[in-house]
Amino acid sequence: THFGFETVNESEKQEKVHKVFENVAKDYDTMNDAMSLGIHRLWKDYFLCKLGPVSNTKLLDVAGGTGDIAFRFLHHVNQFNYKNCHVTVTDINPHMLEVGKNRSTSLKQDQSMISWQEGDAEKLPFKDNTFNAYTIAFGIRNCTHIDKVLSEAYRVLQPGGRFMCLEFSHLVNSTAQWFYDQYSFQVIPVLGQLIAGQWKPYQYLVESIRQFPDQETFKNMIEEAGFRQVDYENLNLGIVAIHSGFKL
Ligand code: SAM
Repeated sequence: THFGFETVNESEKQEKVHKVFENVAKDYDTMNDAMSLGIHRLWKDYFLCKLGPVSNTKLLDVAGGTGDIAFRFLHHVNQFNYKNCHVTVTDINPHMLEVGKNRSTSLKQDQSMISWQEGDAEKLPFKDNTFNAYTIAFGIRNCTHIDKVLSEAYRVLQPGGRFMCLEFSHLVNSTAQWFYDQYSFQVIPVLGQLIAGQWKPYQYLVESIRQFPDQETFKNMIEEAGFRQVDYENLNLGIVAIHSGFKL
């Protein structure tokens, strides 16, 4: 009833619901492109290259949404002909996963290499020591308890496994931060209104970026969760940062 589909049968309804969420996802991708001038694609490409998966990589991509990181992973391991690789995409929102699954089948990806599992980053539905790589891209900022996300990441990784996080961060210089703030607070909500017809979610987005811990603070939190050799790299002056650590 929410979508006004009462009169259609079950499969027609499913198809229309899929269309609705495809449209949402399309807006979502358009917004990502508009806000970052398309640069989020390069950040994700670089993130995956830095992870550098090889044969036997069992990746868990948390808050994986519609599969942007997972698809880059599959592309990478297929390109280099690495064997015995698998990615599990997990997200709290089943509709995002549904869009991702549809994208994956229409891209004719090998379905034995990817699985989709609804789940909360703060309470993962996986056994201890299950994966040897863990990624979370633009997801941890949305979680309520960062410490729980990190301890769950530690728990599901095998010894030797790598944790990697791609997230908006804080600019390394205060003049740049000033210009960036003008852009974020004044341009992004306007783009949200113009492109997606919504102001509030994009205002929330900007505020959540400001509230997320800075690079050094987040690095300390990752160490407190038990990870070793923790470091980070700033991209584009710290607009985003990649944090990395190992369970040893
Ligand atoms: N990683 C994808 C990407 O880079 O395109 C999606 C990022 S999207 C900005 C954030 C995702 O985090 C959404 O799909 C949302 O459903 C998910 N999310 C929010 N809170 C979560 C939680 N507690 N556990 C798992 N996923 C969560």
